[in-house]
Amino acid sequence: MNFIMKKVMEQKIDKEDKKYIAPHFPGGVVTPDDLRKIADACEKFPESKLKLTGEIIMGNVKDEARNKECRQILGLPTYSVAGFSMRPVKLCSGGYICDNNAQDSFSLGLTLDKKFSGKKLPFKMIISVSGCSRSCSEPLVKDIGIVASQEGYSVFVGGAAGAKPRIAQRFKDNLKEDEVITLVEKIVAFYEKKGKTPERLGIFIEKMGLEKFKEEVIK
Ligand code: SF4
Repeated sequence: MNFIMKKVMEQKIDKEDKKYIAPHFPGGVVTPDDLRKIADACEKFPESKLKLTGEIIMGNVKDEARNKECRQILGLPTYSVAGFSMRPVKLCSGGYICDNNAQDSFSLGLTLDKKFSGKKLPFKMIISVSGCSRSCSEPLVKDIGIVASQEGYSVFVGGAAGAKPRIAQRFKDNLKEDEVITLVEKIVAFYEKKGKTPERLGIFIEKMGLEKFKEEVIK
């Protein structure tokens, strides 16, 4: 990297460090006190916007009655972390607190979440949407990954992390928002009908072959 490039990068990092405040929770462990501190700071600085790309999970409330009471006190919608269903759509910060997004990927992600989150399926499924090729929400290791560019959206299928990681394969490029929604509808409907428990989408596609899968989905 030459001297000028290095200076430009340093200025960019400095600008971002002044814009974002990211509390570090080692191991991702947060206490009620940590959450209170965040709530207090956000109340005092209402211009701040909070965004999670990972999850917050309250673990270990094993007693059934206490678990039920805890959910009532929480008073928020929850989802199954283990069920054979669509997980909440994972969104990067593009369009919310990050300006690098090439399209309105945040709004697309929220639409997909409203449409599919919690849907019963042959096995778990995760959709991820990223506003640019930096892919901060890790779309290439999700069942359906959507990545925005100046030309539109690219849709990838069959990715997974876990014991046998798989990189998602490209399904289609340069799609408009409504075309992405239609394609995701078709992929989910096809998997719902033909998928087998406990095969994730990637294994299902591997067995069928990507080209055949594409043909069947589009048909
Ligand atoms: S993927 Fe791009 S738009 Fe999304 S948070 Fe990362 S840098 Fe920002």
